[in-house]
Amino acid sequence: MSSTDRITGDDVVAWLRLAADVFHGEKEHLTALDSAIGDADHGINMDRGFQAVLAKLPTFPQDDVGAILKGTGMTLISTVGGASGPLYGSFFLQLGTATAGKADISVEDFAGALDNGVARVQGLGKAEPGDKTMLEALLPAQAAIHKAAGAGEGPSEALAAGAAAAEEGMLATIPLVARKGRASYLGERSAGHQDPGATSTHLLLKAAADAWSRA
Ligand code: ADP
Ligand code: MG
Repeated sequence: MSSTDRITGDDVVAWLRLAADVFHGEKEHLTALDSAIGDADHGINMDRGFQAVLAKLPTFPQDDVGAILKGTGMTLISTVGGASGPLYGSFFLQLGTATAGKADISVEDFAGALDNGVARVQGLGKAEPGDKTMLEALLPAQAAIHKAAGAGEGPSEALAAGAAAAEEGMLATIPLVARKGRASYLGERSAGHQDPGATSTHLLLKAAADAWSRA
């Protein structure tokens, strides 16, 4: 996609379909990561949530980016428990609120919506950078997507930059000691393990980059 390309409802649906595929394939991996520092359900949670989203996608108005994203958020909230369900659910609800009623959006609109989504994750979870959560991937991705959008990159290039930044942030969680969520119960023993939620955030953003590079 070039810098003038708009992100349509079809593009958002393609992203969510690919994300559902990816989370299905990565279910065991995410659960293995969560078994090291949590309760071994993160892969199960993400797969359950995104399979429910996949089933609901045809019922969302395809010409309304905001409605698709909001429907996704509501589905995740109602089907995924734990910490990640409300966090990812509210993240998508905010993306949807910021893009309500729009048939298509620019990459700048997407970056702006992401600001609302990230702020909600921070407001709800009260995690700070360095606490070893999904924010370790989300915050650098947000910055990279803004930078790419500002430089005139198109949606797939901006999301590829975001996914690359998320991957770096994900890997940087390995030495961190968790200060939020279940992993924080382990204290120092949480160091040496990659955070499951930062890993799913990387997968989610990479799915957008991959889905949109095909558009
Ligand atoms: P649970 O921890 O309830 O079992 P999951 O296993 O599905 O939920 O998700 C765990 C992930 O959620 C963690 O790896 C972390 O990235 C993320 N997480 C947990 N608590 C918070 C928080 N307060 N803020 C941001 N992310 C969090
Ligand atoms: Mg868990």
